[in-house]
Amino acid sequence: MNITDLARRLRVPPEELRSKLPELGFDIGAKALKIPDRDAGKIMYAWRQHKKRQYLETKRDEQRARAERKLLVQEGKAEEAFLPTSMTVRKFAEHLNLPIAKVMQELMRSGILASLNETIDFDTAAIIAEDLGFLAKPMEESSGAEGASGEVGLEETLASEAPEDRSPRPPVVVVMGHVDHGKTKLLDTIRKTNVVDSESGGITQHIGAYQVEHKTKEGKNQSLTFIDTPGHEAFTVMRSRGAKVADIAILVIAADDGIQPQTKEAINIVKAASLPFVVAINKIDTAGADIEKIKNGLSGEGLIPEDWGGKTICTPISAKTGENIDALLDVLLLVADLEKDNITANAERRAIGTIIESHVDKGEGPVATVLVQSGTLKVGDPIGLRGMNYGKVRAMKAWDGEGLKEAPPSTPAKIIGLKQAPSVGDILEVPENPKSLEKLKSQPSQKSGVAELTVKRAPRKTGEEDESDQDGEKPALNLIIKADVLGSLEAVLGMMEKIDTTYVDLKIVAKGLGNVTDADVLRAEATGAQVLAFNVRATTTAEGLARDKNVSFDRYEVIYRLFDDVEERVKKLVPSEKIYTELGSMRVLAVFSKVEKGMIVGGQVLKGTIEPGAVARVTREEKIIAEGKINNLQCGKMDVKEARQGEECGIEFTGKAKIEVGDVLEVYREEEKERV
Ligand code: GDP
Repeated sequence: MNITDLARRLRVPPEELRSKLPELGFDIGAKALKIPDRDAGKIMYAWRQHKKRQYLETKRDEQRARAERKLLVQEGKAEEAFLPTSMTVRKFAEHLNLPIAKVMQELMRSGILASLNETIDFDTAAIIAEDLGFLAKPMEESSGAEGASGEVGLEETLASEAPEDRSPRPPVVVVMGHVDHGKTKLLDTIRKTNVVDSESGGITQHIGAYQVEHKTKEGKNQSLTFIDTPGHEAFTVMRSRGAKVADIAILVIAADDGIQPQTKEAINIVKAASLPFVVAINKIDTAGADIEKIKNGLSGEGLIPEDWGGKTICTPISAKTGENIDALLDVLLLVADLEKDNITANAERRAIGTIIESHVDKGEGPVATVLVQSGTLKVGDPIGLRGMNYGKVRAMKAWDGEGLKEAPPSTPAKIIGLKQAPSVGDILEVPENPKSLEKLKSQPSQKSGVAELTVKRAPRKTGEEDESDQDGEKPALNLIIKADVLGSLEAVLGMMEKIDTTYVDLKIVAKGLGNVTDADVLRAEATGAQVLAFNVRATTTAEGLARDKNVSFDRYEVIYRLFDDVEERVKKLVPSEKIYTELGSMRVLAVFSKVEKGMIVGGQVLKGTIEPGAVARVTREEKIIAEGKINNLQCGKMDVKEARQGEECGIEFTGKAKIEVGDVLEVYREEEKERV
């Protein structure tokens, strides 16, 4: 067998396997490419044993460390941590001076799935802090201590710029509304009617945003940037990540339909974000159009149209015929003018902006579109995302495919040269000193454009030693995601990245656009995946097939439902918290007999107590060999509930280990605690 094949089967990089082999007792030489088949089986066995021991060691260290921390906290000897009444997870980690990953892991242990920028309150933080070995104390919050340290968020950065450094920039517009009300059509129409075809022959690739020029009534040419991710899903993700991208929203409502659930959701979003907006009453060319009915519906939502004495600007349009589109653009510029003090940026600084689209291109590699929000992004600039080094801008393209050397504020720019595809909603920052950035971990990106199949573990071959159920593998949740458009698919994937996977492996086995088909269901069956459909349905045959094959299939129209649902499924898989207590240890003095699934041994208690039902870690020369359970405990041929230090006893041990005379059994108990 090839070493590389063997490494693949063991899911380990070949170099690592090769370097570990001598330690495991296999000397195959540094250059060998192949291993005799009879050795391959042995190596696999030895490797799994090695992994298992490693896992047991880590587990023991963790158990001990936790117990120690708990004790310090209980005795009031732990380090004090002063925490504000509420803080983001990122800030929380800073207060404790701990790596974010560690804090998130602890949150997850307590059943709290929170992302970096999510806010937790003092009470929650205090519990987690104690689990991490700190005594939490409320911070005296007089002089805005929060935010004094660490990195500053996008909104703070933008807000902190001195007015004299700012100059006007084009307004950024986002289109929202119910499905089928004409968002895509409106964006298409605006683009087609307001753009002089560029020399490069028009737009070949969708980049998530575009800019148009519109002549104002005074005859001045004004630029507007449109975020072209239909539906408000992408926008919602960006907001939930703390990135404010749009200055103005267009709320599209079909005149022949009315206010629908997603219209209401959009209204809630713009209200919550205090985002200025205009209503576009669309499809006025249709026979069923009833503008007054729509205005009535808006009033019902507390949005009184201007001509009814309120403040809500309504423009009747037809995205299909192009009627009144100019008027809509005029209105947008009018609103932009009213907001002009807010629609400014400092073009002179290092660029900062939000990723609005991202994928892996077959030819160009990872590419992403950033909306520059302040500063100017230039070719050659280093790229920082989430504090990590993503490479540098090798080349930039404008939305129409034209090469770009510089991208000033409000410009969408496609960046080539990234080391990895970032997530939609990520904040891009050009660092002052690229060396201050962390090295990017080489994790496979979830964003590669083509659906990818994760290789499931090959069925175990008979003869191979079985691993115990304690081999430390995380439970996995496999998903297949189908969505209506790229924008919403990206939004869903972006949301999935927010889910903490410390305890559960979340795998997107496949993703794609369009309805759920038979092939999707079959793939789900083969990979043990669950199918989630966002704004799409299943074909009739696929729906039947899913039922026949018992494949879980759910449809969603609201992204948060989908997110909550996945979060719920992940939570269900999270193993419950265990309370660890070390009981004692015993030295094995005699090995009596083998029994089914274990053996009977005798020995003397070295310290503490031994109890039936407890777990025994078998150690030999201070190395962990295996773990098993003490099923029965006898002292002087009598079943007892406990054996104390100094006493001699016999135990029935259940487990795979071959215990030898001289081994020491470290005995502990672990009780499950319900997660709240
Ligand atoms: P979205 O889901 O909001 O992006 O909606 P689309 O832009 O995909 O539009 C849904 C359907 O309505 C498509 O068939 C469009 O051609 C149609 N449509 C959009 N705007 C108009 C309009 O102004 N008039 C008419 N008659 N049809 C429209």
